Amino acid sequence: PSTNSNISSDTSRNTVLFERARALIPGGVNSPVRAFKAVGGTPRFVQRAQGAYFWDADGKRYIDYIGSWGPMILGHGHPPVVEAVQKAVLEGFSYGAPTEREVELAEEIVKLVPSIEMLRLVSSGTEASMSAIRLARGATGRSKIIKFEGCYHGHADALLVKAGSGLATFGNPTSAGVPPEVVQHTLVLEYNHIAQLEEAFALHGSNTACLIIEPIAGNMNFVRASVPFMKRCRELCTQHGVLLVFDEVMTGFRVALGGAQSVYARSIPGFKPDMTVLGKVIGGGMPLAAFGGTRAVMEQLAPLGPVYQAGTLSGNPVATACGLATLREISKPGFYEALGERTRSLVSGLTRVAAQAGIPFCGDSEGGMFGFFLMEKLPQNYATVMTTDSPAFNRFFHAMLDKGVYYAPALYEAGFVSSAHTAEDIEATVEAAAQFFAGR
Ligand code: PLP
Repeated sequence: PSTNSNISSDTSRNTVLFERARALIPGGVNSPVRAFKAVGGTPRFVQRAQGAYFWDADGKRYIDYIGSWGPMILGHGHPPVVEAVQKAVLEGFSYGAPTEREVELAEEIVKLVPSIEMLRLVSSGTEASMSAIRLARGATGRSKIIKFEGCYHGHADALLVKAGSGLATFGNPTSAGVPPEVVQHTLVLEYNHIAQLEEAFALHGSNTACLIIEPIAGNMNFVRASVPFMKRCRELCTQHGVLLVFDEVMTGFRVALGGAQSVYARSIPGFKPDMTVLGKVIGGGMPLAAFGGTRAVMEQLAPLGPVYQAGTLSGNPVATACGLATLREISKPGFYEALGERTRSLVSGLTRVAAQAGIPFCGDSEGGMFGFFLMEKLPQNYATVMTTDSPAFNRFFHAMLDKGVYYAPALYEAGFVSSAHTAEDIEATVEAAAQFFAGR
């Protein structure tokens, strides 16, 4: 197939691959959202990617606003990262013994995120948040945890839970295969609801190990925790001896070099979470994640302390090479200013052309992460996000896909801009949206 065609709308090879995949892999995919179930149609099978683009199995090019769901902050195939990975591969894939590179990566993370005094490397965000919760429970000797509706922390059993019928009852599993007993200690609250938070702490604060939150939630599109809400989370956690766990798998090194916690620290002086969960950008596209926090808490982890946690591929030498090279690139002066500006230009461009066409639309962004809604006003919680006109979103998604723009195939997912996206890419994207809004 041609490698630079942007005109083919023939998706025949994608269809053939999807059929082959469905015969052997449940739903044809190795992670559910890739299947296009929410938006309908045939998933695009990626043949290769470079910079801000990927090409599907039919050779059609797309401007990529997913970037592997967040990791590809430098775009695809960024030369210094590719070189670091190539060099690392020649030195060995995995040893199951410590390496200098793990120490370097830990040093780099601790330097960039001041709330992290010690950390452990793992291979996925799921593993990192699951381990952080076990550690919080082990360190406090308490069982209960608080999470928020619409926040995703990976697919560990205790976190696949939706709100129960009231604050006195705990959550219900959202997946078959999770016994109710496993989620009986998980309390699910509404995001940005201060009065409910206060009530929950009054009832359960003394038995709660941790509160885990996506500070800027990217798994219900893009919803910020308000500053007063975050301030109250911090105060209540401190008051009740509950560990505040920031899940920055998505926002870490994505919204700012110091993560979302550095964004909140601008408004709340001295603000810090007790623990942080990282993933995505720290691996630069390789399987790598981490959890970290204060020394006192982290020293409870095996082999120092009683909380067990381990991994055959943890701190993998190729993944750490990729992560380190990525962190070095994004630490360069001016990186986030440029990325933030580019991302804002996308959101403001889309907002402008929607307004010109009289379409309800709003959006928000921080650093290289953005979200937009086909509604007048930015939602503050999951229930409001889910009132989006989903057939309208699906029409928008498919129209953009036809025009070679790849947004997340679900209305509850955030989008990502990389440093490889040019002003021309943004302009082309906004123009494609303008055509759709104008009915062309
Ligand atoms: N936490 C957040 C905020 C995420 O967005 C994700 C994945 O999208 C996870 C945790 C789980 O990470 P992983 O998919 O690497 O297991």
